[in-house]
Amino acid sequence: MSQTKTAISNGASPGLQGPASTRFSSYEPPESRLNVIIVGAGIAGVALAGLLGHSGHNVTVLETAPAIAEVGAGLACAPNVSRLINHWGLNDRILKNATALKATNIVRWENGELLCSAPLMPAVQQRYGAPQYVIHRADLFGSLLEWAQAVAELRVNSTVVSVDFDIPSITLSDGTVLEADVIVGADGMKSVCRRMMAQQLGLVNQTVPTGDAAFRALLPVERIKDPDLRAFVTTEESTRWIGKGGHIQAYPIRNGTLYNMVMVHPDTGFTEESWTARASKAKILEHYGDWDVHRLGKLIDQIPDDNIMEWRLCQHEPLPMWRHGKVVLMGDACHPMLPYVGQGAAQSLEDAAVLHLAFNRIRTSTPGHLELLLKTYEVARRSRAEKVVSISGINRSVLHLPDGPEQQIRDGRFRAVATGGDNPDLFANLETQSFLLNHDPEKDFRDNFDVFVQEAAEKQRDIPAGVSSL
Ligand SMILES: Cc1cc2nc3c(=O)[nH]c(=O)nc-3n(C[C@H](O)[C@H](O)[C@H](O)COP(=O)(O)OP(=O)(O)OC[C@H]3O[C@@H](n4cnc5c(N)ncnc54)[C@H](O)[C@@H]3O)c2cc1C
Repeated sequence: MSQTKTAISNGASPGLQGPASTRFSSYEPPESRLNVIIVGAGIAGVALAGLLGHSGHNVTVLETAPAIAEVGAGLACAPNVSRLINHWGLNDRILKNATALKATNIVRWENGELLCSAPLMPAVQQRYGAPQYVIHRADLFGSLLEWAQAVAELRVNSTVVSVDFDIPSITLSDGTVLEADVIVGADGMKSVCRRMMAQQLGLVNQTVPTGDAAFRALLPVERIKDPDLRAFVTTEESTRWIGKGGHIQAYPIRNGTLYNMVMVHPDTGFTEESWTARASKAKILEHYGDWDVHRLGKLIDQIPDDNIMEWRLCQHEPLPMWRHGKVVLMGDACHPMLPYVGQGAAQSLEDAAVLHLAFNRIRTSTPGHLELLLKTYEVARRSRAEKVVSISGINRSVLHLPDGPEQQIRDGRFRAVATGGDNPDLFANLETQSFLLNHDPEKDFRDNFDVFVQEAAEKQRDIPAGVSSL
């Protein structure tokens, strides 16, 4: 472990108690007001609903779940997200539940040997101009939801079963048909909107298992009586155990009351691609029973058996387009992320930021303008999101090397980070970090709008003549 230990205080981590956020009202008002249906009240859908609703659009969010429950575990908010949260005026709601980790420590699976410690806060904020923090998914989601519900309608128990891309409209499982000016598919990794779009394009929506699955568990810190272990889990640092075919990422959240653990391991074929499938401690031990027994072993022992989830990690073949007719995809529905560089929520919030700006420029009186701007969003977002998916996949192979010559070379590189070497973990590698974390999607969209529109107009075949000029 790194030498500097900082205990967690109540409330936000000290480095996060900055000035109040930017005001949302600094956004330019929309040119036309739209009726928008968003399918899926996940992080992507709810963030977009808040942005569009606060800009004056009429928004309905349809969610299949019977109620909005406090689900999930820890999530990383890197500077590319925290910058947006600040722009949207949400710091006051979100930072109070966030934890600014000081370092990421890479340790060897077998014995917990520290291979490398990469600084996070405040170094990341100094480098990228916005903070890095971790948060319980329910706290981030709850804040976004409260903000969105003030300006948008949320309907639970509303499962979308089909989409008409031209009207556009959706049909719910009870037969209700709802029309809007535009439909946004934010329905996550098993998206119906995505599947139907693939069908419309004559494609098969292909899901390929990566060969990995992941356990998620939240360990209540109050259960830990061993003083050494307690000091370890309340230190504001992230630990990444790396080893044969898997890795474990663990860090404290919720003001140090919970220790979040994500455990990626070879998929034994019994898991589903689902956020709510349950697993057992016995199953965790099958995979990690011989990993760092003196520390990790004791931690696993303390995990409550009724609070373990497992999900199968799958890759989805990218669709050739994210827009068809008046329907557009966002978030995991179009670029499901793997958890190797902590960008799942981040990329869906980047989508929300850009779609919001695109919607605010739509002139409904101009035929074809909506379709063109939806395509412009896709042009602005797709190559970046797909690159992040690919970086995440590459990092998997770096972290999961079995013991042998390649692993020894990699570990030598980890040890050389202390003397200025490149970090082989892409999450902490400066070049990759700069690509991931320096990006401001709103600035990028505004600065390059004309170029994106031009590219969208060139790619788009179904835009009537004469609407490429905005
Ligand atoms: C229950 C849950 C727990 C999660 N826990 C974690 C976690 O601990 N750590 C982590 O890193 N990531 C977690 N995630 C994923 C993470 O939030 C997403 O990867 C990321 O934020 C992208 O969000 P999204 O909004 O695109 O997709 P999601 O967050 O998956 O949201 C999609 C939403 O659409 C709804 N939906 C799906 N199909 C339909 C339909 N046909 N009709 C209506 N609604 C539909 C789903 O119920 C869901 O609420 C979780 C996601 C969910 C849904």
